[in-house]
Amino acid sequence: MGKCMIIGCGGVASVAIHKCCQNSEVFEGIMIASRTKSKCDALKEKLQPTTKTVIETAQVNADNVDELVALINSYKPDVVLNLALPYQDLTIMDACLATKTHYVDTANYEPLDTAKFEYKWQWAYREKFEKAGITALLGSGFDPGVTGVFSAYAMKHQFDEINYIDILDCNGGDHGYPFATNFNPEINIREVSAKGSYIEDGKWVETEPMEIKRVYNFKGVGEKDMYLLHHEELESLALNIKGIKRIRFFMTFGQSYLTHLKCLENVGMTSIEPIMYEGKEIVPLQFLKAVLPDPATLGAITVGKTNIGCIFRGKKDGKDKNYYLYNICDHQECYKEVGSQAISYTTGVPAMIGAMMIMTGQWNKAGVYNIEEFDPDPFMDALNKWGLPWEEDFNPVLVD
Ligand code: NDP
Repeated sequence: MGKCMIIGCGGVASVAIHKCCQNSEVFEGIMIASRTKSKCDALKEKLQPTTKTVIETAQVNADNVDELVALINSYKPDVVLNLALPYQDLTIMDACLATKTHYVDTANYEPLDTAKFEYKWQWAYREKFEKAGITALLGSGFDPGVTGVFSAYAMKHQFDEINYIDILDCNGGDHGYPFATNFNPEINIREVSAKGSYIEDGKWVETEPMEIKRVYNFKGVGEKDMYLLHHEELESLALNIKGIKRIRFFMTFGQSYLTHLKCLENVGMTSIEPIMYEGKEIVPLQFLKAVLPDPATLGAITVGKTNIGCIFRGKKDGKDKNYYLYNICDHQECYKEVGSQAISYTTGVPAMIGAMMIMTGQWNKAGVYNIEEFDPDPFMDALNKWGLPWEEDFNPVLVD
Protein backbone atom coordinates (compact mmCIF):
# COMPACT_ATOMS: atom_id res chain seq x y z
CA MET A 1 0.00 0.00 0.00
CA GLY A 2 2.76 2.51 0.78
CA LYS A 3 5.91 3.70 2.49
CA CYS A 4 6.48 5.14 5.96
CA MET A 5 9.54 6.91 7.29
CA ILE A 6 10.04 6.33 11.02
CA ILE A 7 12.22 8.87 12.80
CA GLY A 8 13.92 7.65 15.98
CA CYS A 9 15.00 4.12 16.85
CA GLY A 10 14.46 3.92 20.61
CA GLY A 11 12.06 1.91 22.77
CA VAL A 12 8.79 3.04 21.20
CA ALA A 13 10.12 3.08 17.63
CA SER A 14 11.41 -0.48 17.95
CA VAL A 15 7.90 -1.75 18.76
CA ALA A 16 6.27 0.32 16.00
CA ILE A 17 8.85 -1.02 13.52
CA HIS A 18 8.16 -4.64 14.56
CA LYS A 19 4.44 -3.98 14.10
CA CYS A 20 4.90 -2.35 10.66
CA CYS A 21 6.86 -5.46 9.63
CA GLN A 22 3.98 -7.69 10.80
CA ASN A 23 1.67 -5.53 8.67
CA SER A 24 3.53 -5.56 5.36
CA GLU A 25 0.33 -5.38 3.31
CA VAL A 26 0.04 -1.76 4.42
CA PHE A 27 3.72 -1.04 5.13
CA GLU A 28 5.36 -2.18 1.89
CA GLY A 29 8.42 -0.15 2.73
CA ILE A 30 9.76 1.56 5.81
CA MET A 31 12.79 3.73 6.34
CA ILE A 32 14.22 3.82 9.87
CA ALA A 33 16.03 7.15 10.23
CA SER A 34 17.64 8.16 13.49
CA ARG A 35 20.60 9.88 15.10
CA THR A 36 22.57 6.64 15.60
CA LYS A 37 22.38 4.66 12.36
CA SER A 38 23.92 1.50 13.87
CA LYS A 39 20.73 0.99 15.97
CA CYS A 40 18.61 1.23 12.80
CA ASP A 41 20.88 -1.24 10.99
CA ALA A 42 20.76 -3.72 13.89
CA LEU A 43 16.96 -3.69 13.82
CA LYS A 44 16.92 -4.09 10.04
CA GLU A 45 19.24 -7.07 10.30
CA LYS A 46 16.95 -8.72 12.86
CA LEU A 47 13.66 -8.02 11.09
CA GLN A 48 14.33 -8.10 7.33
CA PRO A 49 14.48 -11.92 7.14
CA THR A 50 11.07 -12.12 8.88
CA THR A 51 9.03 -9.72 6.72
CA LYS A 52 8.00 -8.70 3.21
CA THR A 53 8.29 -5.04 4.24
CA VAL A 54 11.37 -3.61 2.57
CA ILE A 55 13.45 -1.93 5.28
CA GLU A 56 15.89 0.90 4.57
CA THR A 57 17.92 2.84 7.11
CA ALA A 58 19.49 6.30 7.29
CA GLN A 59 21.27 8.64 9.65
CA VAL A 60 19.47 11.93 10.32
CA ASN A 61 19.65 14.80 12.73
CA ALA A 62 15.97 15.56 13.25
CA ASP A 63 16.77 18.99 14.67
CA ASN A 64 17.86 20.01 11.17
CA VAL A 65 14.99 20.78 8.76
CA ASP A 66 17.18 20.78 5.63
CA GLU A 67 18.56 17.32 6.40
CA LEU A 68 15.05 16.01 6.99
CA VAL A 69 13.73 17.57 3.77
CA ALA A 70 16.56 16.01 1.74
CA LEU A 71 15.91 12.58 3.27
CA ILE A 72 12.13 12.77 2.79
CA ASN A 73 12.63 13.88 -0.83
CA SER A 74 14.96 10.99 -1.50
CA TYR A 75 12.71 8.30 0.08
CA LYS A 76 9.29 9.83 -0.74
CA PRO A 77 7.28 8.26 2.10
CA ASP A 78 3.49 8.60 2.29
CA VAL A 79 3.75 9.43 5.97
CA VAL A 80 6.46 10.39 8.46
CA LEU A 81 6.06 8.76 11.89
CA ASN A 82 7.92 10.84 14.47
CA LEU A 83 9.15 8.59 17.29
CA ALA A 84 12.14 10.71 18.25
CA LEU A 85 11.69 13.09 21.19
CA PRO A 86 9.14 15.88 21.69
CA TYR A 87 11.87 18.47 21.02
CA GLN A 88 11.93 17.43 17.35
CA ASP A 89 8.19 17.80 16.65
CA LEU A 90 8.36 21.23 15.01
CA THR A 91 11.39 20.62 12.81
CA ILE A 92 9.81 17.39 11.55
CA MET A 93 6.48 19.17 10.95
CA ASP A 94 8.36 21.87 9.00
CA ALA A 95 10.01 19.20 6.86
CA CYS A 96 6.64 17.52 6.25
CA LEU A 97 5.19 20.85 5.13
CA ALA A 98 8.09 21.52 2.79
CA THR A 99 7.68 18.07 1.18
CA LYS A 100 3.85 17.80 1.47
CA THR A 101 4.04 14.58 3.50
CA HIS A 102 1.60 13.45 6.21
CA TYR A 103 2.85 13.60 9.82
CA VAL A 104 2.13 11.44 12.91
CA ASP A 105 3.60 11.71 16.44
CA THR A 106 3.00 10.43 20.00
CA ALA A 107 3.92 13.40 22.20
CA ASN A 108 3.40 17.13 21.95
CA TYR A 109 6.17 19.62 21.34
CA GLU A 110 8.16 20.71 24.31
CA PRO A 111 10.89 23.37 24.23
CA LEU A 112 14.15 22.01 25.66
CA ASP A 113 14.46 24.75 28.27
CA THR A 114 10.95 24.58 29.82
CA ALA A 115 9.15 21.39 30.83
CA LYS A 116 5.80 22.59 29.53
CA PHE A 117 3.39 20.38 27.64
CA GLU A 118 1.06 22.43 25.48
CA TYR A 119 -0.41 22.03 22.02
CA LYS A 120 -0.22 25.72 21.10
CA TRP A 121 3.00 25.37 19.09
CA GLN A 122 1.65 22.51 16.98
CA TRP A 123 -1.90 23.86 16.69
CA ALA A 124 -0.33 27.00 15.18
CA TYR A 125 0.43 24.86 12.08
CA ARG A 126 -3.25 24.15 11.34
CA GLU A 127 -3.72 26.56 8.45
CA LYS A 128 -0.40 25.66 6.85
CA PHE A 129 -1.23 21.94 6.86
CA GLU A 130 -4.72 22.61 5.51
CA LYS A 131 -3.32 24.70 2.66
CA ALA A 132 -0.70 22.04 1.87
CA GLY A 133 -3.46 19.39 1.77
CA ILE A 134 -1.71 17.14 4.31
CA THR A 135 -2.64 15.69 7.69
CA ALA A 136 -0.82 16.00 11.00
CA LEU A 137 -2.12 13.42 13.49
CA LEU A 138 -1.02 14.47 16.98
CA GLY A 139 -0.64 12.06 19.88
CA SER A 140 -0.97 8.54 18.47
CA GLY A 141 0.52 6.62 21.41
CA PHE A 142 -1.44 5.24 24.36
CA ASP A 143 -1.81 8.33 26.51
CA PRO A 144 -2.15 10.51 24.55
CA GLY A 145 -3.48 8.30 21.81
CA VAL A 146 -5.69 5.38 22.74
CA THR A 147 -7.16 7.47 25.59
CA GLY A 148 -8.39 9.96 22.94
CA VAL A 149 -9.72 7.16 20.72
CA PHE A 150 -11.51 5.66 23.76
CA SER A 151 -13.05 9.08 24.46
CA ALA A 152 -14.23 9.52 20.87
CA TYR A 153 -15.64 5.97 20.91
CA ALA A 154 -17.49 6.53 24.21
CA MET A 155 -18.90 9.79 22.84
CA LYS A 156 -19.99 8.16 19.57
CA HIS A 157 -21.54 4.97 20.94
CA GLN A 158 -22.28 5.30 24.67
CA PHE A 159 -23.17 8.89 25.61
CA ASP A 160 -25.11 11.97 24.56
CA GLU A 161 -22.73 14.01 26.70
CA ILE A 162 -19.67 13.13 28.75
CA ASN A 163 -19.25 15.25 31.89
CA TYR A 164 -16.33 13.62 33.67
CA ILE A 165 -13.30 11.71 32.42
CA ASP A 166 -10.69 10.11 34.68
CA ILE A 167 -7.76 8.64 32.80
CA LEU A 168 -6.07 5.93 34.88
CA ASP A 169 -2.60 4.77 33.87
CA CYS A 170 -1.47 1.82 35.96
CA ASN A 171 1.84 0.06 35.54
CA GLY A 172 1.91 -3.03 37.75
CA GLY A 173 5.25 -4.11 36.27
CA ASP A 174 8.27 -4.87 38.43
CA HIS A 175 11.80 -4.73 36.97
CA GLY A 176 13.62 -5.40 40.23
CA TYR A 177 15.57 -2.10 40.26
CA PRO A 178 14.98 0.31 43.17
CA PHE A 179 14.71 3.12 40.58
CA ALA A 180 14.40 3.07 36.79
CA THR A 181 12.06 4.67 34.27
CA ASN A 182 10.07 2.71 31.71
CA PHE A 183 10.62 5.15 28.91
CA ASN A 184 13.08 7.92 28.16
CA PRO A 185 14.14 8.94 31.71
CA GLU A 186 14.52 12.60 30.82
CA ILE A 187 10.99 12.88 29.41
CA ASN A 188 9.55 10.72 32.19
CA ILE A 189 11.14 12.68 35.06
CA ARG A 190 10.27 16.03 33.50
CA GLU A 191 6.66 14.83 33.39
CA VAL A 192 6.36 13.55 36.96
CA SER A 193 8.35 16.28 38.71
CA ALA A 194 6.20 19.02 37.14
CA LYS A 195 3.19 20.47 38.99
CA GLY A 196 -0.02 18.47 38.66
CA SER A 197 -3.11 19.93 37.05
CA TYR A 198 -6.59 19.08 35.86
CA ILE A 199 -9.37 20.90 34.06
CA GLU A 200 -12.59 21.85 35.85
CA ASP A 201 -15.32 24.03 34.32
CA GLY A 202 -13.07 25.09 31.49
CA LYS A 203 -10.19 26.18 33.73
CA TRP A 204 -6.89 24.58 34.69
CA VAL A 205 -6.54 23.85 38.40
CA GLU A 206 -2.90 23.49 39.45
CA THR A 207 -1.63 21.22 42.26
CA GLU A 208 1.78 20.63 43.80
CA PRO A 209 3.61 17.64 42.26
CA MET A 210 2.03 14.38 43.58
CA GLU A 211 -0.31 16.35 45.88
CA ILE A 212 -3.46 14.35 45.03
CA LYS A 213 -3.32 10.64 45.75
CA ARG A 214 -5.98 7.97 45.33
CA VAL A 215 -5.97 4.19 45.69
CA TYR A 216 -7.59 2.08 42.96
CA ASN A 217 -8.05 -1.65 42.47
CA PHE A 218 -7.06 -2.37 38.86
CA LYS A 219 -8.27 -5.47 37.06
CA GLY A 220 -5.31 -7.71 36.26
CA VAL A 221 -3.00 -5.81 38.63
CA GLY A 222 -4.63 -5.24 42.03
CA GLU A 223 -4.64 -2.27 44.39
CA LYS A 224 -2.22 0.57 43.61
CA ASP A 225 -1.52 4.12 44.76
CA MET A 226 -2.06 6.61 41.96
CA TYR A 227 -1.29 10.33 41.73
CA LEU A 228 -2.81 13.16 39.77
CA LEU A 229 -0.46 14.45 37.05
CA HIS A 230 -0.67 17.05 34.37
CA HIS A 231 -1.00 15.27 31.05
CA GLU A 232 -1.15 16.63 27.57
CA GLU A 233 -4.37 15.04 26.33
CA LEU A 234 -6.39 16.89 28.99
CA GLU A 235 -6.01 20.08 26.95
CA SER A 236 -7.37 18.67 23.69
CA LEU A 237 -10.03 16.39 25.18
CA ALA A 238 -11.53 19.26 27.19
CA LEU A 239 -12.08 21.06 23.87
CA ASN A 240 -13.11 18.13 21.70
CA ILE A 241 -15.48 16.11 23.92
CA LYS A 242 -19.00 17.52 24.32
CA GLY A 243 -20.17 18.45 27.83
CA ILE A 244 -16.89 18.05 29.76
CA LYS A 245 -17.01 19.47 33.30
CA ARG A 246 -13.87 17.88 34.69
CA ILE A 247 -11.03 15.81 33.32
CA ARG A 248 -8.17 14.33 35.36
CA PHE A 249 -5.19 12.04 34.78
CA PHE A 250 -3.79 9.61 37.37
CA MET A 251 -0.66 7.46 37.16
CA THR A 252 0.46 4.75 39.58
CA PHE A 253 3.83 5.00 41.30
CA GLY A 254 5.39 2.71 43.88
CA GLN A 255 6.86 4.08 47.10
CA SER A 256 10.44 3.19 46.12
CA TYR A 257 10.17 5.18 42.87
CA LEU A 258 8.79 8.22 44.69
CA THR A 259 11.38 8.13 47.50
CA HIS A 260 14.23 7.97 44.99
CA LEU A 261 12.73 10.71 42.88
CA LYS A 262 12.31 13.01 45.90
CA CYS A 263 15.92 12.44 46.88
CA LEU A 264 17.19 13.09 43.33
CA GLU A 265 15.07 16.25 43.22
CA ASN A 266 16.33 17.43 46.60
CA VAL A 267 19.96 17.15 45.50
CA GLY A 268 19.29 18.91 42.19
CA MET A 269 19.73 15.92 39.87
CA THR A 270 16.39 16.39 38.10
CA SER A 271 17.06 20.02 37.16
CA ILE A 272 17.02 21.02 33.49
CA GLU A 273 19.11 24.17 34.19
CA PRO A 274 22.61 23.68 32.72
CA ILE A 275 25.53 23.78 35.18
CA MET A 276 29.30 23.94 34.63
CA TYR A 277 31.17 20.75 35.50
CA GLU A 278 34.93 20.52 34.98
CA GLY A 279 34.80 23.22 32.33
CA LYS A 280 31.90 21.64 30.45
CA GLU A 281 28.25 22.63 30.54
CA ILE A 282 25.99 19.72 31.53
CA VAL A 283 22.27 19.41 32.28
CA PRO A 284 21.83 17.43 35.53
CA LEU A 285 18.75 15.56 34.25
CA GLN A 286 20.59 14.51 31.07
CA PHE A 287 23.51 13.28 33.17
CA LEU A 288 21.09 11.34 35.38
CA LYS A 289 19.65 9.73 32.23
CA ALA A 290 23.15 8.53 31.36
CA VAL A 291 23.59 6.70 34.68
CA LEU A 292 20.09 5.15 34.93
CA PRO A 293 19.27 1.76 33.36
CA ASP A 294 18.42 2.11 29.66
CA PRO A 295 14.65 1.50 29.41
CA ALA A 296 15.35 -0.76 26.42
CA THR A 297 17.11 -3.21 28.76
CA LEU A 298 14.15 -3.52 31.15
CA GLY A 299 12.04 -5.69 28.86
CA ALA A 300 13.70 -8.96 29.68
CA ILE A 301 13.34 -8.52 33.43
CA THR A 302 9.98 -6.77 33.84
CA VAL A 303 7.09 -8.92 35.02
CA GLY A 304 3.46 -7.96 35.61
CA LYS A 305 0.81 -6.06 33.69
CA THR A 306 -0.28 -2.57 32.73
CA ASN A 307 -3.89 -1.45 32.84
CA ILE A 308 -4.59 1.89 31.14
CA GLY A 309 -8.01 3.32 30.40
CA CYS A 310 -10.67 5.96 30.93
CA ILE A 311 -13.67 6.12 33.26
CA PHE A 312 -16.44 8.21 31.72
CA ARG A 313 -19.44 9.70 33.52
CA GLY A 314 -22.18 11.41 31.59
CA LYS A 315 -25.70 11.15 30.23
CA LYS A 316 -27.45 8.85 27.78
CA ASP A 317 -31.14 9.33 26.92
CA GLY A 318 -31.52 11.67 29.90
CA LYS A 319 -30.11 9.15 32.40
CA ASP A 320 -26.78 9.16 34.29
CA LYS A 321 -24.32 6.63 32.94
CA ASN A 322 -20.83 5.38 33.90
CA TYR A 323 -18.53 3.52 31.53
CA TYR A 324 -14.92 2.30 31.79
CA LEU A 325 -12.82 1.36 28.75
CA TYR A 326 -9.36 -0.08 29.34
CA ASN A 327 -6.61 -2.32 28.04
CA ILE A 328 -4.57 -4.81 30.04
CA CYS A 329 -1.14 -5.62 28.66
CA ASP A 330 1.39 -8.14 29.97
CA HIS A 331 5.08 -7.14 30.09
CA GLN A 332 6.43 -10.63 29.43
CA GLU A 333 4.02 -11.33 26.55
CA CYS A 334 5.23 -8.12 24.89
CA TYR A 335 8.82 -9.12 25.43
CA LYS A 336 8.22 -12.52 23.85
CA GLU A 337 6.58 -10.95 20.82
CA VAL A 338 8.75 -7.90 20.08
CA GLY A 339 11.56 -7.84 22.66
CA SER A 340 10.20 -4.81 24.60
CA GLN A 341 8.27 -4.20 27.80
CA ALA A 342 4.63 -3.11 27.86
CA ILE A 343 5.20 0.65 28.15
CA SER A 344 6.98 0.77 24.79
CA TYR A 345 4.50 -1.77 23.40
CA THR A 346 1.38 0.15 24.41
CA THR A 347 2.84 3.25 22.70
CA GLY A 348 4.41 1.63 19.62
CA VAL A 349 1.32 -0.33 18.56
CA PRO A 350 -0.98 2.75 18.38
CA ALA A 351 1.80 4.66 16.60
CA MET A 352 1.80 2.02 13.85
CA ILE A 353 -2.02 2.07 13.76
CA GLY A 354 -2.11 5.89 13.46
CA ALA A 355 0.27 5.76 10.48
CA MET A 356 -1.85 2.95 9.00
CA MET A 357 -5.08 5.00 9.34
CA ILE A 358 -3.51 7.71 7.20
CA MET A 359 -1.79 5.42 4.69
CA THR A 360 -5.01 3.51 4.03
CA GLY A 361 -7.00 6.75 3.72
CA GLN A 362 -9.37 5.68 6.51
CA TRP A 363 -8.46 8.95 8.21
CA ASN A 364 -8.23 11.59 5.58
CA LYS A 365 -8.57 15.30 6.29
CA ALA A 366 -6.08 18.08 5.75
CA GLY A 367 -4.96 20.06 8.78
CA VAL A 368 -3.57 19.44 12.27
CA TYR A 369 -5.77 17.19 14.43
CA ASN A 370 -5.72 15.46 17.78
CA ILE A 371 -6.58 11.82 17.60
CA GLU A 372 -10.09 12.13 19.09
CA GLU A 373 -11.10 14.29 16.12
CA PHE A 374 -11.18 11.23 13.83
CA ASP A 375 -13.68 8.35 13.58
CA PRO A 376 -12.61 5.98 16.39
CA ASP A 377 -14.18 2.80 14.94
CA PRO A 378 -11.43 1.61 12.56
CA PHE A 379 -8.78 2.38 15.19
CA MET A 380 -10.71 0.44 17.86
CA ASP A 381 -10.91 -2.57 15.51
CA ALA A 382 -7.20 -2.30 14.79
CA LEU A 383 -6.36 -2.27 18.52
CA ASN A 384 -8.07 -5.64 18.89
CA LYS A 385 -6.29 -6.99 15.83
CA TRP A 386 -2.77 -5.71 16.54
CA GLY A 387 -2.24 -6.65 20.17
CA LEU A 388 -4.05 -4.17 22.43
CA PRO A 389 -7.56 -5.59 22.90
CA TRP A 390 -9.86 -3.41 24.98
CA GLU A 391 -12.38 -4.31 27.64
CA GLU A 392 -15.42 -2.44 28.90
CA ASP A 393 -17.12 -2.17 32.28
CA PHE A 394 -20.61 -0.66 32.61
CA ASN A 395 -20.49 -0.51 36.40
CA PRO A 396 -16.97 0.66 37.31
CA VAL A 397 -15.76 1.73 40.74
CA LEU A 398 -15.43 5.52 40.46
CA VAL A 399 -12.55 7.73 41.66
CA ASP A 400 -13.65 10.35 44.21
P1 NDP B 1 14.02 6.84 23.36
O1 NDP B 1 14.92 7.81 24.02
O2 NDP B 1 14.14 5.38 23.64
O3 NDP B 1 14.16 7.00 21.76
C1 NDP B 1 14.27 8.24 21.12
C2 NDP B 1 14.93 8.02 19.78
O4 NDP B 1 14.98 9.27 19.09
C3 NDP B 1 16.37 7.51 19.90
O5 NDP B 1 16.58 6.50 18.96
C4 NDP B 1 17.20 8.75 19.59
O6 NDP B 1 18.43 8.50 18.96
C5 NDP B 1 16.29 9.44 18.60
N1 NDP B 1 16.61 10.87 18.55
C6 NDP B 1 16.68 11.75 19.59
N2 NDP B 1 17.05 12.95 19.14
C7 NDP B 1 17.20 12.84 17.81
C8 NDP B 1 17.58 13.75 16.78
N3 NDP B 1 17.85 15.03 17.04
N4 NDP B 1 17.63 13.29 15.52
C9 NDP B 1 17.36 11.99 15.23
N5 NDP B 1 16.99 11.09 16.15
C10 NDP B 1 16.91 11.51 17.42
O7 NDP B 1 12.53 7.35 23.63
P2 NDP B 1 11.17 6.48 23.65
O8 NDP B 1 11.20 5.53 22.50
O9 NDP B 1 10.93 6.02 25.01
O10 NDP B 1 10.10 7.63 23.34
C11 NDP B 1 9.89 8.10 22.02
C12 NDP B 1 8.74 9.12 22.02
O11 NDP B 1 7.55 8.50 22.47
C13 NDP B 1 8.97 10.32 22.95
O12 NDP B 1 8.55 11.48 22.28
C14 NDP B 1 8.06 10.03 24.11
O13 NDP B 1 7.63 11.22 24.75
C15 NDP B 1 6.91 9.35 23.41
N6 NDP B 1 6.08 8.51 24.31
C16 NDP B 1 4.72 8.62 24.19
C17 NDP B 1 3.88 7.86 24.99
C18 NDP B 1 2.41 7.91 24.76
O14 NDP B 1 1.69 7.05 25.32
N7 NDP B 1 1.85 8.81 23.99
C19 NDP B 1 4.41 6.96 26.02
C20 NDP B 1 5.86 6.83 26.00
C21 NDP B 1 6.65 7.63 25.19
P3 NDP B 1 19.66 7.77 19.72
O15 NDP B 1 19.33 6.31 19.58
O16 NDP B 1 20.84 8.18 18.96
O17 NDP B 1 19.63 8.26 21.15
